[in-house]
Amino acid sequence: MTAPAHPSSSPAPSQRPPLMALDEARARLLARAVPLADVESVSTFEADGRVLAQDIVSALQVPPQDNSAMDGYAVRCADVREPGVVLQVTQRIAAGSTGHALAPLSAARIFTGAPVPPGADAIVMQEDVELVNECEGGVRFKAVPAPGQWVRRAGEDVTRGAVILRQGERLNAASLGLAAGVGLGHVNVVVRPRVALFSTGDELVMPGEVAPADMPGGAIYNSNRFFLRVLLQRLGCEVSDLGIVPDRRDATVAALKTAADHHDLILTSGGVSVGEEDHVKPAVEQLGALDLWQIAMKPGKPFAHGMVRRDATVPGHAHFIGLPGNPVSSFVTFLLLVRPFLLKLQGARVLDVTPWTLPAHFNVTKADKRREFLRVRRNAAGGLELFGNQSSGVLTSVVWGDGLVDNPAGATIAHGDRVSYLPFSELLA
Ligand code: AMP
Ligand code: MG
Repeated sequence: MTAPAHPSSSPAPSQRPPLMALDEARARLLARAVPLADVESVSTFEADGRVLAQDIVSALQVPPQDNSAMDGYAVRCADVREPGVVLQVTQRIAAGSTGHALAPLSAARIFTGAPVPPGADAIVMQEDVELVNECEGGVRFKAVPAPGQWVRRAGEDVTRGAVILRQGERLNAASLGLAAGVGLGHVNVVVRPRVALFSTGDELVMPGEVAPADMPGGAIYNSNRFFLRVLLQRLGCEVSDLGIVPDRRDATVAALKTAADHHDLILTSGGVSVGEEDHVKPAVEQLGALDLWQIAMKPGKPFAHGMVRRDATVPGHAHFIGLPGNPVSSFVTFLLLVRPFLLKLQGARVLDVTPWTLPAHFNVTKADKRREFLRVRRNAAGGLELFGNQSSGVLTSVVWGDGLVDNPAGATIAHGDRVSYLPFSELLA
Protein backbone atom coordinates (compact mmCIF):
# COMPACT_ATOMS: atom_id res chain seq x y z
CA MET A 1 0.00 0.00 0.00
CA THR A 2 1.37 3.39 -0.85
CA ALA A 3 1.58 5.85 1.99
CA PRO A 4 -1.04 8.60 1.74
CA ALA A 5 0.31 11.98 0.78
CA HIS A 6 0.65 14.46 3.62
CA PRO A 7 -2.88 15.81 3.94
CA SER A 8 -1.92 19.46 3.69
CA SER A 9 0.78 19.24 1.04
CA SER A 10 -0.02 20.72 -2.36
CA PRO A 11 -1.62 18.37 -4.86
CA ALA A 12 0.48 17.36 -7.85
CA PRO A 13 0.13 19.82 -10.76
CA SER A 14 -2.07 17.40 -12.72
CA GLN A 15 -4.54 17.15 -9.80
CA ARG A 16 -4.80 20.87 -9.17
CA PRO A 17 -8.21 22.31 -9.94
CA PRO A 18 -8.20 24.70 -12.91
CA LEU A 19 -7.75 28.34 -11.99
CA MET A 20 -10.97 30.33 -11.77
CA ALA A 21 -11.41 33.44 -13.93
CA LEU A 22 -11.55 36.65 -11.90
CA ASP A 23 -14.92 37.58 -13.40
CA GLU A 24 -16.37 34.29 -12.30
CA ALA A 25 -14.99 34.64 -8.76
CA ARG A 26 -16.41 38.13 -8.61
CA ALA A 27 -19.83 37.00 -9.87
CA ARG A 28 -19.96 34.16 -7.34
CA LEU A 29 -18.93 36.44 -4.52
CA LEU A 30 -21.48 39.10 -5.41
CA ALA A 31 -24.22 36.49 -5.76
CA ARG A 32 -23.69 35.71 -2.07
CA ALA A 33 -23.74 39.35 -0.93
CA VAL A 34 -27.28 40.09 0.23
CA PRO A 35 -27.66 43.82 0.93
CA LEU A 36 -28.06 44.70 4.60
CA ALA A 37 -31.66 45.53 5.39
CA ASP A 38 -31.21 47.98 8.27
CA VAL A 39 -31.32 51.72 7.74
CA GLU A 40 -30.20 54.54 10.02
CA SER A 41 -30.63 58.27 9.98
CA VAL A 42 -27.30 60.08 10.23
CA SER A 43 -26.33 63.72 10.32
CA THR A 44 -25.56 65.05 6.86
CA PHE A 45 -22.18 66.07 8.29
CA GLU A 46 -21.41 62.42 9.08
CA ALA A 47 -22.71 60.77 5.92
CA ASP A 48 -19.65 60.94 3.64
CA GLY A 49 -19.14 57.60 1.89
CA ARG A 50 -22.43 56.14 3.12
CA VAL A 51 -25.03 54.66 0.76
CA LEU A 52 -28.47 56.26 0.51
CA ALA A 53 -31.28 53.95 1.59
CA GLN A 54 -33.97 55.91 -0.25
CA ASP A 55 -34.39 58.54 -2.95
CA ILE A 56 -34.10 62.15 -1.84
CA VAL A 57 -36.94 64.28 -3.18
CA SER A 58 -36.62 68.04 -2.92
CA ALA A 59 -39.40 69.78 -1.01
CA LEU A 60 -38.46 73.14 -2.49
CA GLN A 61 -36.88 74.72 -5.53
CA VAL A 62 -33.26 75.82 -5.48
CA PRO A 63 -32.59 78.68 -5.67
CA PRO A 64 -35.87 79.51 -3.92
CA GLN A 65 -36.26 82.76 -5.90
CA ASP A 66 -34.66 84.65 -8.79
CA ASN A 67 -31.48 86.21 -7.45
CA SER A 68 -28.53 88.22 -8.60
CA ALA A 69 -25.39 86.54 -9.89
CA MET A 70 -23.38 89.75 -9.49
CA ASP A 71 -22.83 92.79 -7.34
CA GLY A 72 -24.47 95.56 -9.37
CA TYR A 73 -27.84 97.09 -10.19
CA ALA A 74 -31.24 95.56 -10.89
CA VAL A 75 -33.09 97.30 -13.72
CA ARG A 76 -35.92 97.01 -16.19
CA CYS A 77 -34.35 96.51 -19.62
CA ALA A 78 -37.03 98.75 -21.09
CA ASP A 79 -35.51 101.63 -19.09
CA VAL A 80 -31.96 101.13 -20.45
CA ARG A 81 -32.29 100.97 -24.22
CA GLU A 82 -29.03 102.78 -25.01
CA PRO A 83 -25.69 103.37 -23.32
CA GLY A 84 -25.42 106.44 -21.09
CA VAL A 85 -28.90 106.25 -19.55
CA VAL A 86 -29.00 107.58 -15.96
CA LEU A 87 -31.38 106.05 -13.39
CA GLN A 88 -32.08 106.92 -9.77
CA VAL A 89 -31.15 104.23 -7.21
CA THR A 90 -34.19 103.80 -4.99
CA GLN A 91 -33.39 100.75 -2.86
CA ARG A 92 -30.52 98.59 -1.66
CA ILE A 93 -30.90 94.78 -1.48
CA ALA A 94 -28.19 92.72 0.20
CA ALA A 95 -28.11 88.90 0.34
CA GLY A 96 -30.46 87.73 3.07
CA SER A 97 -32.93 90.61 2.64
CA THR A 98 -35.75 91.20 0.17
CA GLY A 99 -36.48 94.38 -1.75
CA HIS A 100 -39.76 95.79 -3.00
CA ALA A 101 -41.20 96.24 -6.47
CA LEU A 102 -38.94 98.29 -8.73
CA ALA A 103 -40.62 101.46 -9.86
CA PRO A 104 -40.22 102.38 -13.56
CA LEU A 105 -37.15 104.50 -14.35
CA SER A 106 -35.34 103.46 -11.17
CA ALA A 107 -32.62 100.98 -10.30
CA ALA A 108 -31.93 98.86 -7.20
CA ARG A 109 -28.44 98.48 -5.78
CA ILE A 110 -28.14 94.69 -5.44
CA PHE A 111 -25.54 92.19 -4.24
CA THR A 112 -24.73 88.61 -5.23
CA GLY A 113 -27.36 86.19 -3.97
CA ALA A 114 -29.95 88.87 -3.15
CA PRO A 115 -33.47 88.32 -4.54
CA VAL A 116 -34.24 90.24 -7.74
CA PRO A 117 -37.02 92.71 -6.92
CA PRO A 118 -40.37 92.33 -8.70
CA GLY A 119 -40.39 94.33 -11.92
CA ALA A 120 -36.62 94.07 -12.56
CA ASP A 121 -35.57 91.76 -15.42
CA ALA A 122 -31.79 92.14 -15.57
CA ILE A 123 -28.73 92.86 -13.45
CA VAL A 124 -26.02 95.22 -14.66
CA MET A 125 -22.72 94.47 -12.98
CA GLN A 126 -21.18 97.32 -11.07
CA GLU A 127 -18.18 97.47 -13.42
CA ASP A 128 -20.56 98.58 -16.21
CA VAL A 129 -21.99 101.48 -14.22
CA GLU A 130 -20.61 104.83 -13.04
CA LEU A 131 -21.87 107.02 -10.24
CA VAL A 132 -23.14 110.36 -11.45
CA ASN A 133 -21.61 113.21 -9.46
CA GLU A 134 -24.02 115.90 -10.58
CA CYS A 135 -27.06 113.83 -9.63
CA GLU A 136 -27.27 112.54 -6.01
CA GLY A 137 -28.16 108.81 -6.03
CA GLY A 138 -27.94 108.55 -9.82
CA VAL A 139 -26.03 105.92 -11.80
CA ARG A 140 -25.10 105.91 -15.48
CA PHE A 141 -25.30 102.64 -17.41
CA LYS A 142 -22.40 102.27 -19.83
CA ALA A 143 -23.83 99.14 -21.46
CA VAL A 144 -27.29 97.99 -22.54
CA PRO A 145 -28.49 94.94 -20.58
CA ALA A 146 -30.11 91.89 -22.17
CA PRO A 147 -33.25 90.50 -20.49
CA GLY A 148 -32.36 87.91 -17.84
CA GLN A 149 -28.71 89.00 -17.71
CA TRP A 150 -26.92 87.94 -14.49
CA VAL A 151 -30.16 86.62 -13.03
CA ARG A 152 -30.04 83.14 -11.51
CA ARG A 153 -33.48 81.70 -12.06
CA ALA A 154 -35.54 80.19 -9.26
CA GLY A 155 -35.36 76.40 -9.55
CA GLU A 156 -32.54 76.42 -12.11
CA ASP A 157 -30.55 74.02 -9.91
CA VAL A 158 -33.36 71.92 -8.39
CA THR A 159 -37.09 71.96 -9.12
CA ARG A 160 -39.62 71.20 -6.39
CA GLY A 161 -40.40 67.46 -6.30
CA ALA A 162 -37.25 66.49 -8.21
CA VAL A 163 -35.34 63.37 -7.19
CA ILE A 164 -31.93 64.88 -6.52
CA LEU A 165 -30.19 61.74 -5.24
CA ARG A 166 -31.16 58.13 -5.71
CA GLN A 167 -31.27 55.14 -3.43
CA GLY A 168 -28.00 53.26 -3.80
CA GLU A 169 -25.95 56.39 -4.38
CA ARG A 170 -22.76 56.67 -2.36
CA LEU A 171 -22.65 60.08 -0.78
CA ASN A 172 -19.66 62.34 -1.22
CA ALA A 173 -18.76 65.95 -0.54
CA ALA A 174 -20.73 67.24 -3.53
CA SER A 175 -23.89 65.20 -2.97
CA LEU A 176 -23.90 66.06 0.74
CA GLY A 177 -23.82 69.72 -0.24
CA LEU A 178 -26.78 69.16 -2.57
CA ALA A 179 -28.74 67.32 0.16
CA ALA A 180 -28.04 70.14 2.60
CA GLY A 181 -29.15 72.62 -0.07
CA VAL A 182 -32.68 71.19 0.00
CA GLY A 183 -32.80 71.38 3.77
CA LEU A 184 -31.71 67.94 4.93
CA GLY A 185 -29.85 67.90 8.24
CA HIS A 186 -30.07 64.10 8.30
CA VAL A 187 -30.13 61.43 5.62
CA ASN A 188 -31.26 57.80 5.69
CA VAL A 189 -28.41 55.46 4.84
CA VAL A 190 -27.82 51.72 4.98
CA VAL A 191 -26.12 50.64 8.20
CA ARG A 192 -22.38 50.18 8.17
CA PRO A 193 -21.20 46.62 7.53
CA ARG A 194 -19.55 45.33 10.72
CA VAL A 195 -16.24 43.77 9.77
CA ALA A 196 -13.88 41.78 11.97
CA LEU A 197 -10.33 42.00 10.66
CA PHE A 198 -7.50 39.74 11.58
CA SER A 199 -4.07 38.90 10.32
CA THR A 200 -2.61 35.42 10.46
CA GLY A 201 1.04 34.48 10.61
CA ASP A 202 3.52 33.72 13.38
CA GLU A 203 6.13 35.78 11.54
CA LEU A 204 4.16 38.99 12.05
CA VAL A 205 5.13 41.59 14.62
CA MET A 206 3.60 44.97 15.21
CA PRO A 207 5.33 48.23 14.40
CA GLY A 208 5.49 50.28 17.55
CA GLU A 209 5.70 47.17 19.69
CA VAL A 210 8.99 45.77 18.42
CA ALA A 211 11.74 48.17 17.32
CA PRO A 212 13.51 47.40 14.02
CA ALA A 213 16.74 46.68 15.93
CA ASP A 214 14.96 44.08 18.09
CA MET A 215 13.26 42.13 15.30
CA PRO A 216 13.59 38.40 15.93
CA GLY A 217 14.96 36.28 13.07
CA GLY A 218 12.30 35.49 10.48
CA ALA A 219 9.96 38.20 11.68
CA ILE A 220 8.33 40.83 9.48
CA TYR A 221 6.12 43.74 10.33
CA ASN A 222 2.42 43.42 9.77
CA SER A 223 1.65 45.79 6.90
CA ASN A 224 -1.62 44.30 5.69
CA ARG A 225 -3.38 45.14 8.93
CA PHE A 226 -2.73 48.81 8.36
CA PHE A 227 -3.94 49.19 4.82
CA LEU A 228 -6.85 46.77 5.19
CA ARG A 229 -8.22 48.64 8.20
CA VAL A 230 -8.07 51.93 6.30
CA LEU A 231 -9.57 50.46 3.13
CA LEU A 232 -12.47 49.03 5.16
CA GLN A 233 -13.09 52.29 6.96
CA ARG A 234 -13.08 54.22 3.69
CA LEU A 235 -15.75 51.87 2.40
CA GLY A 236 -18.00 52.80 5.30
CA CYS A 237 -17.36 49.72 7.46
CA GLU A 238 -17.27 49.58 11.22
CA VAL A 239 -14.04 47.66 11.85
CA SER A 240 -13.18 45.48 14.83
CA ASP A 241 -9.48 44.89 14.51
CA LEU A 242 -8.79 41.58 16.22
CA GLY A 243 -5.05 41.75 15.68
CA ILE A 244 -2.77 38.87 14.84
CA VAL A 245 -3.97 35.32 15.24
CA PRO A 246 -1.23 32.74 15.78
CA ASP A 247 -0.78 29.93 13.24
CA ARG A 248 -2.67 27.36 15.32
CA ARG A 249 -5.96 25.70 14.55
CA ASP A 250 -7.45 26.21 18.02
CA ALA A 251 -6.53 29.91 18.10
CA THR A 252 -7.97 30.44 14.62
CA VAL A 253 -11.21 28.65 15.51
CA ALA A 254 -11.56 30.69 18.70
CA ALA A 255 -11.01 33.98 16.86
CA LEU A 256 -13.54 33.12 14.17
CA LYS A 257 -16.12 32.00 16.71
CA THR A 258 -15.88 35.19 18.72
CA ALA A 259 -16.11 37.33 15.60
CA ALA A 260 -19.04 35.61 13.89
CA ASP A 261 -21.84 36.62 16.26
CA HIS A 262 -21.42 40.37 15.94
CA HIS A 263 -20.05 40.91 12.46
CA ASP A 264 -21.33 40.74 8.91
CA LEU A 265 -17.91 39.87 7.52
CA ILE A 266 -14.76 38.31 8.90
CA LEU A 267 -11.80 39.39 6.78
CA THR A 268 -8.42 37.75 7.20
CA SER A 269 -5.13 38.06 5.42
CA GLY A 270 -2.66 35.22 5.03
CA GLY A 271 -3.07 31.54 5.73
CA VAL A 272 -5.29 30.68 2.76
CA SER A 273 -2.68 28.95 0.65
CA VAL A 274 -2.58 25.20 1.04
CA GLY A 275 0.62 25.06 3.06
CA GLU A 276 0.92 23.18 6.32
CA GLU A 277 0.84 26.41 8.31
CA ASP A 278 -2.37 27.60 6.72
CA HIS A 279 -4.99 27.01 9.38
CA VAL A 280 -7.71 29.28 8.15
CA LYS A 281 -9.25 26.80 5.73
CA PRO A 282 -9.83 23.91 8.20
CA ALA A 283 -10.95 26.35 10.91
CA VAL A 284 -13.63 27.93 8.72
CA GLU A 285 -14.71 24.51 7.50
CA GLN A 286 -15.11 23.40 11.11
CA LEU A 287 -17.39 26.35 11.88
CA GLY A 288 -19.24 26.73 8.60
CA ALA A 289 -18.27 26.32 4.97
CA LEU A 290 -15.45 27.48 2.78
CA ASP A 291 -14.64 27.71 -0.90
CA LEU A 292 -11.00 28.16 -1.65
CA TRP A 293 -10.52 29.64 -5.05
CA GLN A 294 -7.31 29.76 -7.02
CA ILE A 295 -8.03 32.82 -9.10
CA ALA A 296 -6.31 33.28 -12.43
CA MET A 297 -4.98 36.69 -11.52
CA LYS A 298 -1.60 38.12 -10.71
CA PRO A 299 -0.98 39.25 -8.07
CA GLY A 300 -3.39 37.44 -5.81
CA LYS A 301 -3.99 33.79 -6.62
CA PRO A 302 -5.39 32.28 -3.40
CA PHE A 303 -8.70 33.74 -2.25
CA ALA A 304 -11.30 32.21 0.04
CA HIS A 305 -14.96 32.86 0.59
CA GLY A 306 -17.25 31.10 3.00
CA MET A 307 -19.45 31.55 6.00
CA VAL A 308 -19.11 31.08 9.71
CA ARG A 309 -22.15 29.99 11.70
CA ARG A 310 -23.21 32.07 14.66
CA ASP A 311 -24.27 31.01 18.10
CA ALA A 312 -27.71 29.35 17.94
CA THR A 313 -29.27 32.41 19.62
CA VAL A 314 -27.95 34.84 16.99
CA PRO A 315 -29.71 34.80 13.60
CA GLY A 316 -27.89 34.52 10.30
CA HIS A 317 -24.23 33.86 9.64
CA ALA A 318 -21.09 35.89 9.09
CA HIS A 319 -19.45 36.01 5.67
CA PHE A 320 -15.83 34.96 5.60
CA ILE A 321 -13.27 36.29 3.14
CA GLY A 322 -9.65 35.19 3.28
CA LEU A 323 -7.17 37.31 1.36
CA PRO A 324 -3.68 36.20 0.36
CA GLY A 325 -0.86 37.17 2.72
CA ASN A 326 1.44 38.79 0.20
CA PRO A 327 0.82 42.50 0.67
CA VAL A 328 0.28 43.45 -2.97
CA SER A 329 -1.94 40.42 -3.53
CA SER A 330 -3.93 41.35 -0.46
CA PHE A 331 -4.23 44.96 -1.59
CA VAL A 332 -5.27 44.17 -5.17
CA THR A 333 -7.74 41.41 -4.30
CA PHE A 334 -9.30 43.72 -1.75
CA LEU A 335 -9.84 46.41 -4.39
CA LEU A 336 -11.15 44.08 -7.08
CA LEU A 337 -13.23 41.66 -5.02
CA VAL A 338 -13.85 42.83 -1.45
CA ARG A 339 -14.62 46.40 -2.46
CA PRO A 340 -17.57 45.51 -4.74
CA PHE A 341 -18.72 42.93 -2.18
CA LEU A 342 -18.87 45.53 0.60
CA LEU A 343 -20.53 48.08 -1.66
CA LYS A 344 -23.19 45.55 -2.58
CA LEU A 345 -23.75 44.75 1.12
CA GLN A 346 -24.55 48.44 1.51
CA GLY A 347 -26.92 48.44 -1.45
CA ALA A 348 -24.71 50.62 -3.64
CA ARG A 349 -25.70 50.82 -7.30
CA VAL A 350 -22.23 51.34 -8.72
CA LEU A 351 -19.85 48.59 -7.65
CA ASP A 352 -17.01 49.11 -10.08
CA VAL A 353 -14.60 51.69 -11.32
CA THR A 354 -14.85 52.43 -15.04
CA PRO A 355 -11.44 51.83 -16.60
CA TRP A 356 -9.68 54.51 -18.61
CA THR A 357 -7.97 53.71 -21.90
CA LEU A 358 -4.44 55.10 -21.96
CA PRO A 359 -1.29 54.44 -23.97
CA ALA A 360 1.36 52.24 -22.42
CA HIS A 361 4.79 53.85 -22.31
CA PHE A 362 6.40 50.52 -21.51
CA ASN A 363 6.71 47.00 -22.90
CA VAL A 364 5.63 43.66 -21.51
CA THR A 365 7.30 41.15 -23.77
CA LYS A 366 6.56 38.02 -21.78
CA ALA A 367 2.86 37.12 -21.61
CA ASP A 368 1.51 35.58 -18.41
CA LYS A 369 -1.03 32.79 -18.25
CA ARG A 370 -2.96 34.79 -15.66
CA ARG A 371 -4.74 38.11 -16.02
CA GLU A 372 -2.29 40.60 -14.61
CA PHE A 373 -2.80 43.84 -12.70
CA LEU A 374 0.35 45.84 -13.26
CA ARG A 375 1.33 48.71 -11.00
CA VAL A 376 1.78 51.77 -13.18
CA ARG A 377 1.64 55.52 -13.02
CA ARG A 378 0.65 58.28 -15.41
CA ASN A 379 3.40 60.47 -16.79
CA ALA A 380 3.32 64.06 -18.00
CA ALA A 381 3.04 62.86 -21.61
CA GLY A 382 -0.35 61.26 -20.87
CA GLY A 383 0.99 57.71 -20.93
CA LEU A 384 1.56 55.01 -18.34
CA GLU A 385 4.88 53.91 -16.90
CA LEU A 386 5.50 50.55 -15.31
CA PHE A 387 7.05 49.98 -11.90
CA GLY A 388 10.20 47.89 -12.29
CA ASN A 389 9.42 45.19 -9.74
CA GLN A 390 5.96 43.63 -10.08
CA SER A 391 6.47 41.03 -7.35
CA SER A 392 3.45 40.46 -5.12
CA GLY A 393 5.50 41.23 -2.03
CA VAL A 394 6.72 44.64 -3.19
CA LEU A 395 4.39 47.17 -1.62
CA THR A 396 6.57 50.01 -2.94
CA SER A 397 4.98 49.34 -6.35
CA VAL A 398 1.58 50.38 -5.00
CA VAL A 399 2.95 53.53 -3.41
CA TRP A 400 4.93 54.50 -6.51
CA GLY A 401 2.00 53.68 -8.79
CA ASP A 402 -1.27 55.55 -9.14
CA GLY A 403 -3.23 52.68 -10.61
CA LEU A 404 -3.38 49.26 -12.20
CA VAL A 405 -3.22 48.16 -15.80
CA ASP A 406 -5.64 45.30 -16.37
CA ASN A 407 -3.72 43.10 -18.81
CA PRO A 408 -5.62 40.09 -20.17
CA ALA A 409 -4.17 36.60 -19.79
CA GLY A 410 -1.69 35.77 -22.51
CA ALA A 411 -1.30 39.35 -23.72
CA THR A 412 1.94 41.21 -24.28
CA ILE A 413 2.10 44.99 -24.35
CA ALA A 414 4.12 47.12 -26.78
CA HIS A 415 4.99 50.77 -26.21
CA GLY A 416 2.07 52.83 -27.52
CA ASP A 417 -0.58 50.12 -27.11
CA ARG A 418 -3.79 51.39 -25.57
CA VAL A 419 -4.41 49.59 -22.31
CA SER A 420 -7.08 49.48 -19.63
CA TYR A 421 -6.14 51.51 -16.53
CA LEU A 422 -7.88 51.58 -13.14
CA PRO A 423 -6.88 54.62 -11.07
CA PHE A 424 -6.22 54.12 -7.35
CA SER A 425 -7.83 57.51 -6.72
CA GLU A 426 -11.16 55.89 -7.61
CA LEU A 427 -10.48 52.39 -6.31
CA LEU A 428 -9.53 53.79 -2.90
CA ALA A 429 -12.41 56.25 -2.71
P1 AMP B 1 0.60 33.35 3.51
O1 AMP B 1 -0.52 33.67 2.58
O2 AMP B 1 0.20 33.31 4.93
O3 AMP B 1 1.32 32.12 3.07
O4 AMP B 1 1.63 34.54 3.36
C1 AMP B 1 2.25 34.85 2.14
C2 AMP B 1 3.35 35.86 2.34
O5 AMP B 1 2.80 37.09 2.80
C3 AMP B 1 4.38 35.48 3.38
O6 AMP B 1 5.64 35.92 2.92
C4 AMP B 1 3.96 36.25 4.59
O7 AMP B 1 5.03 36.50 5.46
C5 AMP B 1 3.42 37.52 4.00
N1 AMP B 1 2.41 38.12 4.87
C6 AMP B 1 1.34 37.46 5.38
N2 AMP B 1 0.62 38.29 6.15
C7 AMP B 1 1.24 39.50 6.10
C8 AMP B 1 0.98 40.76 6.71
N3 AMP B 1 -0.10 40.94 7.51
N4 AMP B 1 1.81 41.77 6.47
C9 AMP B 1 2.90 41.60 5.66
N5 AMP B 1 3.18 40.43 5.06
C10 AMP B 1 2.38 39.38 5.28
MG1 MG C 1 0.94 32.65 6.70
